[in-house]
Amino acid sequence: MKLFLATSNPGKLRELAALADAAGPERSRGEGVELAPLRDYGRLPRAPEDDASFALNALEKALHYSRLAEGFVVADDSGLVVEALGGRPGVHSARYAQTGAALPAGTAAADADNNRQLLAELESVPEEQRTAHYICALALARSDRLLALFSDSCEGRIVKEPRGSSGFGYDPLFYFPPLGKTMAELSLPDKNQHSHRGKAFRKLLTYLTEHPA
Ligand code: IMP
Repeated sequence: MKLFLATSNPGKLRELAALADAAGPERSRGEGVELAPLRDYGRLPRAPEDDASFALNALEKALHYSRLAEGFVVADDSGLVVEALGGRPGVHSARYAQTGAALPAGTAAADADNNRQLLAELESVPEEQRTAHYICALALARSDRLLALFSDSCEGRIVKEPRGSSGFGYDPLFYFPPLGKTMAELSLPDKNQHSHRGKAFRKLLTYLTEHPA
């Protein structure tokens, strides 16, 4: 079965594609899951994101794009929640640096800008208070109808210097204690095994297995 992904984030696309490959046909109704970027995603009218929560953003995106495209649409809304920052950057994770001094007004935030902003805000926060978690909400919709929402999280800590070059976003700063590495030091299969996105995606696969179209 084919799922269209309502994202242009290369990091998310890479991880979701590997998750679908790893699932194999036996986990997904005997026919396998094929993921494809939504056709002309960049040229479609943008989905509203009211920023109320990851779940609401994912639901809004999936519903919006399911009206514009044929087939099943999956939307991923995800980000980093840092306890010492009262939950920031949260739903603003992709554009965190735009809210701070790290970036001139009007400039789009790159991962490196966001990471600099995070380190600056946590500068005086001691090790034991640098706890954080990732959240991923995946919404599934088809033909203007919401079908389901899956979400999960991954607990870690924010280190003081970036480490590793895999992954994307905040991964070089996100230390994952069970494996003793930052997310950017993990292989793709290892990240997918433990990550918020990997766990949420496997719930989606279970749903598809249990709800044949
Ligand atoms: P969204 O496109 O609004 O969902 O924003 C997602 C943002 O959250 C990304 O641009 C990253 O900054 C951050 N993020 C989400 N998932 C991950 C992850 O797995 N690793 C690192 N950063 C992530």
